[in-house]
Amino acid sequence: MTENVMLIFPHPDDETFSAAGTVQHYKRTKDAYVSAVSLTLGEMGRNFGMPPIANRETLPHIRKKELEDALSIMGVDQFIHLGYRDKTLEFELTSTVANHLLNVIVEHQPTTVITFYPGHSIHPDHDATGEAVVEAIKMMDHSKRPTLLTKAITADAEQHIGEPDVVFDISPYLEMKKEAIRAHRSQALEVDAITKQKLKEGATDPEAWIRYETFWTYKQSEEV
Ligand SMILES: [Zn+2]
Repeated sequence: MTENVMLIFPHPDDETFSAAGTVQHYKRTKDAYVSAVSLTLGEMGRNFGMPPIANRETLPHIRKKELEDALSIMGVDQFIHLGYRDKTLEFELTSTVANHLLNVIVEHQPTTVITFYPGHSIHPDHDATGEAVVEAIKMMDHSKRPTLLTKAITADAEQHIGEPDVVFDISPYLEMKKEAIRAHRSQALEVDAITKQKLKEGATDPEAWIRYETFWTYKQSEEV
């Protein structure tokens, strides 16, 4: 079976920071088909660009276009927007979102799903998304479940869940990743400024934060 990778993230740019190089890795080494599911458009964001290129009314349209641009730079084949409201995912019933995601997963039959590690992803929307994906996959027959790669981003994640078991050095795709980050123009993400700051702080590899894409393979309990 050919590899079919599905990214499931709540906000535009989560997919780029988490997995831009990973997408290229799967495409180049496994000829993978890649889809990206975004639960919201990040429309409640407080950044409007620097200088501003959006306002509260135009932000959802601008974020959607930026996401499409970033996904095209990453080489993602298909974009699926689920239409949830930004910053409210934590208030949705996990089972509601999980059932919705289950339909999407069953329809597209990914062999690998990439999302946030529930409880270790800082933002409530991130954790809610990871939880719903885990619930969705639990509802599937064991033989049909995709591999679940999860991204933890809390500073102390390794103390709680150990080291990531999947680490991609995405150096060959680093320039592409920066271009995809820059495509999220209204978010005004200053990659170069962050890298310079890390250099100033004495980092030996100031780009390590975008060079290594790390994941924890989520182990579902065999009983459920
Ligand atoms: Zn996010």
